Amino acid sequence: MKIGVLSFQGGVIEHINQIKALGHTPIEVNKASNLDNIDGIILPGGESTTIGKLLNITGLMNPLREKIKQGLPTWGTCAGMILLAKDIESQDESYLGILDVNVRRNAFGTQLDSFKSYKIIKEVSDNEIELVFIRAPIITKAGNNVKTLCKINDNIVAVKHKNILATSFHPELTNNTSFLEYFISSTMY
Ligand code: GLN
Repeated sequence: MKIGVLSFQGGVIEHINQIKALGHTPIEVNKASNLDNIDGIILPGGESTTIGKLLNITGLMNPLREKIKQGLPTWGTCAGMILLAKDIESQDESYLGILDVNVRRNAFGTQLDSFKSYKIIKEVSDNEIELVFIRAPIITKAGNNVKTLCKINDNIVAVKHKNILATSFHPELTNNTSFLEYFISSTMY
């Protein structure tokens, strides 16, 4: 599989390394023509405002939105989840706006800026997975057809809807590739 990673800013190399570790081919995506050559795309963590601006400046926003609407398998981690969301709390505008969820940015507050948790997520793996949160968003509301995969203290932190997967946390910062395997097997085959 050729798996694109949106490569403007943020945790790009970590996703690229996990894609390679599974024997797939990573493709850095920073312009519209890159979209023609990929089987799926990962929108990494970083700063959603910055990545959103760069999507607009480079003209990638509209073609990327169209591709995702047409079914391109897409996984947003952290800022990537914010880019996908239809509604962002306290912001007038969304970015790609194609995943039927409301998100709250930096939802765990300054005292819990970054933390780890361990969970079994049945759909993904029978084993406990390390979940790394860094200034993470939560989903405050999810549409009826959006499937919740994981909650932390009643807050939704992972969802799936058709070809779109979104996580508040960063599986690419651990040495466990089961989330990437789940993304590939549940959306690309
Ligand atoms: N706090 C960042 C934002 O709001 C997301 C942080 C991350 O991607 N690790 O965009």
